[in-house]
Amino acid sequence: MADYDLLVIGGGSGGVACARRAAGYGARAAVIENDRLGGTCVHRGCIPKKLLVYASHFSHDFADAAGYGWTVGEASFDWPAMVRAKADELDRLEGIYGRLLRDAGATHVRGTGRLLDAHTVAVGDERHTAETIVIATGGRPSVPDIPGVELAISSDEMFDLPALPERLVIVGGGYIACEFACIMQGLGSRVTQLYRRDLPLRGFDRDLRRVLTEEMRKGGVDLRLDTNAVSLARSNGAIAVTTTSGEAIEADRVLFATGRHPNVAGLGLENAGVETAEGGAIRVDASSRTGAANIYAVGDVTDRINLTPVAIHEGRCIAETLYNDNPQAPDHRDVATAVFTTPELGTVGLTEEEAREAFAAVDIYRTRFRPLKHTLSGRDETVFMKLVVDRASDRVAGCHMVGDGAGEAVQLLGIAVKAGATKAQFDATMAVHPTAAEEFVTLYEPVREAAA
Ligand code: FAD
Ligand code: NDP
Repeated sequence: MADYDLLVIGGGSGGVACARRAAGYGARAAVIENDRLGGTCVHRGCIPKKLLVYASHFSHDFADAAGYGWTVGEASFDWPAMVRAKADELDRLEGIYGRLLRDAGATHVRGTGRLLDAHTVAVGDERHTAETIVIATGGRPSVPDIPGVELAISSDEMFDLPALPERLVIVGGGYIACEFACIMQGLGSRVTQLYRRDLPLRGFDRDLRRVLTEEMRKGGVDLRLDTNAVSLARSNGAIAVTTTSGEAIEADRVLFATGRHPNVAGLGLENAGVETAEGGAIRVDASSRTGAANIYAVGDVTDRINLTPVAIHEGRCIAETLYNDNPQAPDHRDVATAVFTTPELGTVGLTEEEAREAFAAVDIYRTRFRPLKHTLSGRDETVFMKLVVDRASDRVAGCHMVGDGAGEAVQLLGIAVKAGATKAQFDATMAVHPTAAEEFVTLYEPVREAAA
């Protein structure tokens, strides 16, 4: 008999969720982790990032308070104190992850897992056998091969810098680049962001991308579009970034947020008949099964939708299918997501561009306004909202927002989109007043013009 029913390689969001759920159903489950339980989300991703987002908002709040009659004393920010507080919280969360695994009855194996065959994983000198193996090894930052790139850092290092950089250059226009641009600008760094195409956040609704660009610039981020880094070199104790426009920008730190690669190196996939696609992502079918019948893969290592709740869901579907007689395949449609910029961006469902491809006729509802809070604060910041509706069925196919609380709003709008709500049902929903989100249920007239 094999040592385990289920052996999971990787103790991040997807792996721990899978093992816990499986053990809860009585499976003999183990998780192999070579770093810290909790993985990217807990230690180098969502959680420390969101804590820094909160930290960065205080500078705005202090400034906004004056319009409401407050006098706020001179504010200063202690980066090492924030880093320490964050580290304590991550230690606490890691402990919780360990306890949850133990309480569920799963085993935590420390070390690096490597497949020897379809049922055997080596961890150092040990050999562990299992009926089923789940690969949940996540991803790691990838950087382009340009001269001097070794002077730059990735998001992994951002969280524990010894000091707040006075000048920061960020390369990239995805989630991580945009989020860190706003975080660090809010904390007091002077941020220059370089993105190689015309608008950041490729793949998101074009209006959202345009509005976010304007709002980030208003917030002070020097966002340069159609511009990339060509090389990096040391210069006067700083780093000079030469750009495609021939300029040399000096910075104390340079962050490359240029995407992530699946973590498959050294996993021994070839020993077990597990195939990868170009770029290294493990190939899986709709139920996350690889080419080897007893081996599954979930989360970022499969490069489907690289978000924590998705990795968790994929992991749980396997446990439900194998150990609870409840076959489930992950549903990757209409996944709500937020980019924690300032202001925030939230989106669920189809972009306008996707909807125009999918449906014969589409109605667009759109609004952009100054939120009530900023009538008194005087801050030049707007909220943008947009609904994308399939005219034939009246179904709301996409909801998009840039503005405070956009992530919270689209989490709930995601239920409506998932449930197939129609525009008429949105209109029949009573508003909560005064909120920004009420605009989503009072957008009565479709727009006739092409752009916001
Ligand atoms: P991971 O969480 O990366 O876990 C993989 C684990 O496997 C790691 O702990 C690693 O040490 C371990 N491992 C790797 N190889 C081996 C091996 N051979 N043997 C043993 N262990 C191994 N998502 C959101 O939903 N919201 C956010 O706000 C968000 N913010 C993010 C911010 C940043 C800066 C980053 C980088 C990511 C963010 N994400 C966010 C994405 C999210 O973190 C990932 O989608 C999620 O962590 C993927 O989970 P996973 O289980 O696939 O992998
Ligand atoms: P993304 O894939 O989102 O963005 C990568 C960016 O780097 C793109 O703008 C891309 O440009 C650019 N890029 C790629 N290669 C180069 C290059 N050679 N030179 C210059 N620019 C380049 O990756 P991230 O690293 O930002 O984040 C990884 C994933 O983690 C996200 O996709 C998301 O799934 C997850 N995440 C989620 C968050 C959340 O939920 N809030 C927050 C952070 C991460 P181009 O568009 O031209 O390809």
